[in-house]
Formats: sequence, C-alpha cells, structure tokens
Amino acid sequence: PSTEPMLRIEGLSAWYGEAQALRSVDIEVQEGEIVTLVGRNGAGKTTLLRCVTGLHIGRNEGRVSFLSQDVTKQAVHKRTRRGLGYVPDDRGIYATLSVEENLTLPPRVGPEPWSLDRVYETFPRLKERRRFPGTKLSGGEQQMLALARVLRMGARLLLCDEPTEGLSPLIVQQIGDILREVKRQGVTVLLIEQNVHFAATVADRHYLLAEGRVVESLDNDAMKAREGELLQHLGI
Ligand code: ATP
Repeated sequence: PSTEPMLRIEGLSAWYGEAQALRSVDIEVQEGEIVTLVGRNGAGKTTLLRCVTGLHIGRNEGRVSFLSQDVTKQAVHKRTRRGLGYVPDDRGIYATLSVEENLTLPPRVGPEPWSLDRVYETFPRLKERRRFPGTKLSGGEQQMLALARVLRMGARLLLCDEPTEGLSPLIVQQIGDILREVKRQGVTVLLIEQNVHFAATVADRHYLLAEGRVVESLDNDAMKAREGELLQHLGI
C-alpha cells in the first residue's frame, strides 16, 4: 500500500511584500484524516490554506503536492478540478440566492461530485431551508451551506478556515457531527481551529503554528492530555 500522504507541504514560506507570514512549514495529511491547524490570530493559518489552494497573492517558496502531483504552480481552477475544496472564513455564499441555487450553481468539476440527494441526506437542515435566501440563514446554516457546496463540486480534501467561528456551542457540536460524517463518507479534512477543545473532539492530528512556523505536531491523545496547557500557551 502507498504511504504517500494525500497532501504534502514541504518548506513552505510565504510573504506579503517584505513581511514573512510562513517560515519553511512542513505538513502532511493522509487520506481519510481530519487534521487541524491551531494557533493565534496572525500565526499564518489562513495564509497556509491560501497557498494550498493557489489563492495566496504574494510570493511563496517551497512545495505543495496533492495526490502525488506537484501543484505548487498550478492555477486555482486546476487544483479545484483535482479535488481541493476551499471553504473560506467568510463562507463565500451568495446572499441573494436560495440555498438550492447556491448548491447547484457552482460547476461539478471535482473528482467526486455529490448529488443533491446526497447533500440533503448529509445536511437535512439544508433540505428544510432549500428555498431560503442566503441572507435568511443562521451562521451555522451558512457554514453548512459553504461545506455542502464544496462537497457537491466534488472535493476530496476540504480546507476549512475556522468553520466554528462565531457559532454557539450547540451549533459547534453540529458542525463537529457533520465533519465526522463527511470523514466517514471518505472525505479528508484540513481545518483551522482556534477552539482547542473542539479540535480535540473532531480531529485525528494537530499542528500548532506560531509566527509562521509549525512549533508542534500532536496526535489527538497528546492534544487531549495537554488541552488546558495549550489553551494558556496560545492565549486563545
Ligand atoms: P487569522 O486567524 O487572524 O486569520 P492566521 O493565523 O490565519 O490568523 P494569517 O491571516 O495567515 O494568520 O496572517 C499571517 C500574517 O500575515 C499576519 O502577520 C498578518 O498580519 C499578515 N497578513 C495576512 N494577510 C495579509 C495581507 N493581505 N497583507 C499583508 N499582510 C497580511
């Protein structure tokens, strides 16, 4: 069996003008895993996801490989077609369109596009809300829609920028259930998470980032054992 990770990031550095946001980051994600990036505001987490998707606008160095192919210089749409799905922190849904239009409008270009039925089975709340415009959705429903849309497009790896930000504890739990269900259905997840406790309830492994560097890599047992300490250390 191949041990090549689904996503391999090697020596990744990134800049905004003169300011360096990432410093030789190495990260691997195996197919089927949920992995979190944990760290304070400004640690470089969003920049990292944007380098993986091709959306980073500044200079970068290093290598991003996805499914054994070097995608470092590939255009965003080619990475999407290969199965990278990005869920930005602003969720990026169309406010004036209905839930169903939001789901059906984007092209199903990825390797494993979901049918609308499969989306509604996995996200029953979205089925109930399917005629609602984006503006009438709660924060949690918007987050579900953003995740569902990328799955419908055919992503094999979800890159999620803080899916739980600003959501109430009950809704955070629901997002956790959805991420676990999505994993059960064979999708891999790399997510930014400031909520250390939540991270430990959903993920298999974790990377801690500080000032653009990976300062630690932890399995979930280590994360659980050190939750309190890490909370203090990160100040989040
Ligand atoms: P957050 O959770 O606040 O998004 P983060 O860990 O995702 O934090 P980044 O957004 O990746 O961190 O930011 C890393 C560094 O790059 C920070 O010092 C930030 O100020 C800087 N930075 C981010 N975006 C830009 C930009 N568009 N122009 C200039 N500097 C930026």
